[in-house]
Amino acid sequence: MPIADRLTLNIMFENKERTSLTELGEFGLIKHLTEHFKIAHESSVKGVGDDSAVLNFDHKQVLISTDLLLEGIHFDLAYVPLMHLGYKAVQVNLSDIYAMNGMATQITVSLGVSSKFPLEAIEEIYKGIALACNKFNIDLVGGDTSASRQGLVISVTSIGYAEKDDVVYRNGAQEGDLLCVSGDLGGAYVGLQILEREKQIFLENPQLQPDLEGKDYIIERQLKPEGRKDMVDLLAQLKIKPTAMIDVSDGLASEILHICNQSEKGCTIYEDKLPIDPMTYETARELGLDPTVCALNGGEDYELLFTIKQSDYQKLKNDIDVSIIGHITDKNEGVKMISKSNVVHELKAQGWNAFKK
Ligand code: ADP
Ligand code: MG
Repeated sequence: MPIADRLTLNIMFENKERTSLTELGEFGLIKHLTEHFKIAHESSVKGVGDDSAVLNFDHKQVLISTDLLLEGIHFDLAYVPLMHLGYKAVQVNLSDIYAMNGMATQITVSLGVSSKFPLEAIEEIYKGIALACNKFNIDLVGGDTSASRQGLVISVTSIGYAEKDDVVYRNGAQEGDLLCVSGDLGGAYVGLQILEREKQIFLENPQLQPDLEGKDYIIERQLKPEGRKDMVDLLAQLKIKPTAMIDVSDGLASEILHICNQSEKGCTIYEDKLPIDPMTYETARELGLDPTVCALNGGEDYELLFTIKQSDYQKLKNDIDVSIIGHITDKNEGVKMISKSNVVHELKAQGWNAFKK
């Protein structure tokens, strides 16, 4: 069933079974949540159950990345189903390992839960976590669990590895390199605008069910993003090592600036090359938004943005899931976009800033 049909606003387990977390206690809860997770990787020597996980990566470089998600800041339970929240919390974290051109193998999950959440709610989160782990072959090897005064907190740490020569940093872009992005952009942001709109309508009239008809793809882009492990696999298969790479979490413009600043280079991109799905495009227009601005500044697409040497162009040019959107220039050229009407715009980071009001 598509997400849009399943999504009802305000699903805080009002009419469902509620098992109080205090009945289980902390250790009972941890056991209940983790006992069905199996260990698949040889590198996971010891998972849940001791004071520390034990991992062995032999002579590989170990990659570690962590994210903290707070209710009311990073997610709104009015329209984010808990299972999706668990799934997304893992995916966005794995995405950071893939952005280093690495393989993700383990995660730890830490939870702060207030007493308003029954066991059944936490189980939903763990169903999403399990789904993401199964899909991407990830071992859950630990975490922490605590009561919180207010609201839900989830922190995921992901661990992975790569051969030393395979790790791709943000700072390796060279003049003349081609700037590439996987998938399409702006959908997660436009999907969020639709969810926010329906939430407002619901708050004014709780009788009305959300109208998400025909918006499946962009709602999924927002609620159920996928880390691009397949891109890392594809690049390896094509024997392409990107010169620089980053995942698109804050918005394309912001990520391009990270690559350019760290590589001490400039860049020119072309508006007509930006990959925007028709549903993103039409919905943005419906909402009075500029689709290009949504693609540049929207964020949360979790696509991979990377630069390749021109000599690798032949290997990639027929892949329909990769768009070449521009090229790297000398630092003095600045970071700019040539619009469809041939006007030059300087790119600014309007990516999401956690401390901006
Ligand atoms: P400690 O007191 O040594 O920190 P805990 O009682 O917090 O140990 O955790 C016991 C075991 O359960 C550890 O292996 C820990 O990593 C794991 N664990 C705790 N909370 C979670 C969780 N929410 N998800 C997965 N594993 C967890
Ligand atoms: Mg602990």
